[in-house]
Amino acid sequence: MSTLSNTNKTNTKYDVVIIGGGPAGYTAALYSSRAGLSTLVLEAYAPGGQMSTTDVIDNYPGLSQGIGGYDLAVEMRKQAERFGSVSVFERVQFVDFEAQPKKIAVQSGAIYEAGAVIVATGSSPRELGLSNEKALRGRGVSYCATCDGAFYRGKTVIVVGGGDTAAADTVLLSKICKKIYLVHRRDTLRATKAYVKPIENSENVEFVWNSAVQEILGDPKVTGAQIRNLKTGEVKTIDCEGIFIAIGGVPNTDLFRGKIEMDAKGYILAKEDTATSVPGVFVAGDARSKPLRQIVTAVSDGAVAAQMAEEFLTKQSI
Ligand SMILES: Cc1cc2nc3c(=O)[nH]c(=O)nc-3n(C[C@H](O)[C@H](O)[C@H](O)COP(=O)(O)OP(=O)(O)OC[C@H]3O[C@@H](n4cnc5c(N)ncnc54)[C@H](O)[C@@H]3O)c2cc1C
Repeated sequence: MSTLSNTNKTNTKYDVVIIGGGPAGYTAALYSSRAGLSTLVLEAYAPGGQMSTTDVIDNYPGLSQGIGGYDLAVEMRKQAERFGSVSVFERVQFVDFEAQPKKIAVQSGAIYEAGAVIVATGSSPRELGLSNEKALRGRGVSYCATCDGAFYRGKTVIVVGGGDTAAADTVLLSKICKKIYLVHRRDTLRATKAYVKPIENSENVEFVWNSAVQEILGDPKVTGAQIRNLKTGEVKTIDCEGIFIAIGGVPNTDLFRGKIEMDAKGYILAKEDTATSVPGVFVAGDARSKPLRQIVTAVSDGAVAAQMAEEFLTKQSI
């Protein structure tokens, strides 16, 4: 079966419909189908989500030599389908969570019905929007220091941003890298003091205030960046092997705006039990409010969401 082929597309009614086929979605599918619930995964692109765009995943426990993101995605899909999960590769365009059963419409016009829904639509890192940024992604451009920092041991890197993520990334990288340039548009960090102090005390961190990255240099790998001082207009080149862009993420939750409670940034609010403000709708992975967005936390959410969905359906049927 090719990676993107749909499985058993005939049914339109499922116990559980999962929107998003990243690690959160396919783990929810594994637990849900293994519990005997009919389970559908609706995925806009390809299985694996952000994970499948990552060359090597080195921090997923149990895989001592690391694994390619795409390979892990394929395995997660296969495992969920072994227990009967169905995958349909179509973008969800509309949801009606007030209907009973809940209705989910995809781009082809098909409408699926579900007793419970798990939202696992993930998030996307915010980009700088520079011309060669996409081409150099994974070749020196990274959006995740927790994920990729270890590949830059003893090297010089730039961190871009001034909030908590940029500051936390700088603290982490200061313990791994030879030198870190922290490039920020303003002349102070917006980050909490807990992060700022250790950065100020680090001998290998240099602040580059009032500045922005104008161009990323290197082909086929990052070799440096041109940095523009926003006050003076002066442009200088910093040689480096990595650029960590930490200017925030964008949750893929527009579809649910006004239908589920979210925080100010658009992340869906949920506690440990993954329950959202709508009964029978659960949220797992990067799309939800949470302190750490990683594969291990996404799969953890996915398992909890499936369990909660099962409990919800059981109570409904009593
Ligand atoms: C470059 C990069 C490297 C990373 N490296 C690591 C790493 O090494 N280790 C680690 O632990 N984490 C890493 N992460 C973070 C990790 O990938 C995420 O935390 C994880 O993928 C989140 O899983 P998720 O299932 O919640 O969401 P996602 O992986 O974002 O998956 C969401 C899925 O939902 C789909 N979707 C969205 N909207 C719709 C819709 N309307 N209809 C249908 N489908 C939809 C998307 O197409 C996507 O496939 C990395 C992230 C990035 C960007």
